[in-house]
Amino acid sequence: MTEFSPDNAFEALSRVLKENSPNADLDRIRGAFDFAVKAHDGQMRRDGTPYVTHTIAAATIAAEMGLDDESVMAALLHDTLEDTDTTHDQLEAEFGADVADIVEGVTKLTRVQYSTMEEAQMENLRKMLMAMAKDIRVILIKLADRLHNMRTMSFQSPEKQLAKSRETMEIYAPIAHRLGVEKMKDELEDLALLYLDPVGYQEITNILDKRRDTLEKFQKSMEERISQRMEKEGIACTVYGRLKHIYSIYRKMYTQHLGVEEIFDLCAFRVIVNDLADCYNVLGIIHEMFRPVPGRFKDYISTPKPNNYQSLHTTVIGTEGIPFEVQIRTWQMHVTAEYGVAAHWKYKSGGIGSKDGDEEKFAWIRRLLESQQDADAQDFYHDLKVDLFDDEVFVFTPNGDVKSLPAGATPIDFAYAIHSAVGNSMTGAKVNGRIVPIAYPLQNGDIVSIITSHSAAGPSRDWLNIARSGEARSKIRQWFKKERREENIVQGRDMFESEARRVGLSMADVTDPEILPHILKRMAVTDLDDVFASIGYGGMTASHAVGRIHDEIVRNRTAVRKTEIDKMQERADRRQQKELKAVQGVLVEGLDNCLIKFSRCCTPVPGDPIIGFITRGLGVSIHRKDCVNYRRDADSGRWINVSWADHITDSYAADIYITADERGGLVMDIATVLNYLNAKVRSLNARDVGKGVSTVVITLEIQDARELQNIINRLQGVRGVRDINRGGM
Ligand code: MN
Repeated sequence: MTEFSPDNAFEALSRVLKENSPNADLDRIRGAFDFAVKAHDGQMRRDGTPYVTHTIAAATIAAEMGLDDESVMAALLHDTLEDTDTTHDQLEAEFGADVADIVEGVTKLTRVQYSTMEEAQMENLRKMLMAMAKDIRVILIKLADRLHNMRTMSFQSPEKQLAKSRETMEIYAPIAHRLGVEKMKDELEDLALLYLDPVGYQEITNILDKRRDTLEKFQKSMEERISQRMEKEGIACTVYGRLKHIYSIYRKMYTQHLGVEEIFDLCAFRVIVNDLADCYNVLGIIHEMFRPVPGRFKDYISTPKPNNYQSLHTTVIGTEGIPFEVQIRTWQMHVTAEYGVAAHWKYKSGGIGSKDGDEEKFAWIRRLLESQQDADAQDFYHDLKVDLFDDEVFVFTPNGDVKSLPAGATPIDFAYAIHSAVGNSMTGAKVNGRIVPIAYPLQNGDIVSIITSHSAAGPSRDWLNIARSGEARSKIRQWFKKERREENIVQGRDMFESEARRVGLSMADVTDPEILPHILKRMAVTDLDDVFASIGYGGMTASHAVGRIHDEIVRNRTAVRKTEIDKMQERADRRQQKELKAVQGVLVEGLDNCLIKFSRCCTPVPGDPIIGFITRGLGVSIHRKDCVNYRRDADSGRWINVSWADHITDSYAADIYITADERGGLVMDIATVLNYLNAKVRSLNARDVGKGVSTVVITLEIQDARELQNIINRLQGVRGVRDINRGGM
């Protein structure tokens, strides 16, 4: 092993920089280089080389990708915060905020711990890393870091090799793929495969080695044949062949259940042209030169892949009988395919789908793609923020599971995302080992643990305002509904009553036994407490409940009164049919058992002073002494003294005449009073007599004058009643 020489190492890095970024500021980069060498002085890697060789290698990978100066410097410094005494402030003072922030971003990603998890969890973890990175350069440098670590993994323990390889396969290679950094993705996959299935890896490399000479010869001759033919056709293009990467062959073997000897198309060719029309021209010529394999043609130009990849793919059989794949694309498509942060990978990631505003949100990716078409765009990755997931936050459980929550979520949301029992018994929360307020807004990558207690009082009502996820809120409401019924009823009743007061509805109206059953039916509950309880836990608003109940009361009052009047009328009709019993209770002076009739003009009742009139052939007709008919004709000699018996068991018909202001509801109100007094109504007739006046004539069946007077007195109180008399006046 040669001695590490900073000058030689920087010289090598400079060569890569000059090749990929001619305008790179080598002096600035040298500053970061020297800083890293000094900071990591004395630290060694497991392979015995100075630690800084790792960060120089990561910087070289960044340079190969054509990243900007800040990225290369940050790559050189990427382990200084984690592994040395260096601080963010120091980096910022020396190299600017950009470099310092990128290094800090990479450090945060490095600190994320994860274990093997289900696919859905991994998907969240990938998103979390993207979201944590904030700046695309952070991710790209993290990928460079990982790539170099994978390249030098042979010095690690078998356990670490396996763990890192899984992580690479599950997390980093898919991220590279999504960002469209295919070269890096391929290498990461191959390196991970080497440790995950060494035998399978070896099997494939053996075959490739065995066939290497043949394949290389084949590759050369094909490149020449295709190039010459295109030149003849007048199409400017670049043709090159390559071996497929090992993991792609491996996956094909296992998904298609093929033996390695059955995999023929180990070679793939690319034809890169200047414009779109040439893509299809080239395809036609290729199919003319070689026999296409049916079913293998794919037009990813008219239908790009989710990560915006565009190409024509076809598999053909060469003259030697060896099948091979040809990819045809423009330079623009090629650059996107090799290096691009693919514009539409979001669609593939599912979940975030094609929400409104995505176009704006992903504008930066479009900008990136556009800048790539510009050959000397120095700052591909400048100011590019990874804000793909700014409506989500990703956090860890203490076991390393990843939970995706809405942005701004709190430990309450987290607790309920775990289980409602955890939320309901929560008394506090720790984030990254420290106690936090329950309203603490969770940050990407936080490790959250919930402190619970069996004697916890349960969620508090203001949690409903703190929680950000619908899931948490509905679980909290559920709890209040179930566990706190009594409290909810009390609280709900208060809210109901104050709302009822506001709209002028009294609780007596609500609990009126005539109407309550209708209310309960309308609200689909068994008693009012159910209504109060649901107001109490927030399932229904007080104003909604009051509104519906108010409607129901109005509707029923009308119906109830109508029924009452119908009943009165029925009773009256029945009585009318029944002939009144022979009138008793009246003693006629000097006559026994004479026929008695009560006059219709003044309808006397027991208690009224009365007088009898001797009719022709119809016995004695009984009048009140104050009846106009008696007063007008007192001297005719046909009047006879009569009096009430002591014990009267009969009832008597009595008329009353009401004069009142004409108004809607008058009859209803009169009927209500009569009903209240339990009066027996034989008939009731109302009519408007003009000039805003109504008269109501009621025939009652009563016991005596006192009862009648009482009824009259009560009726005087009905609104609009001007006068009540008994007729015969
Ligand atoms: Mn590193």
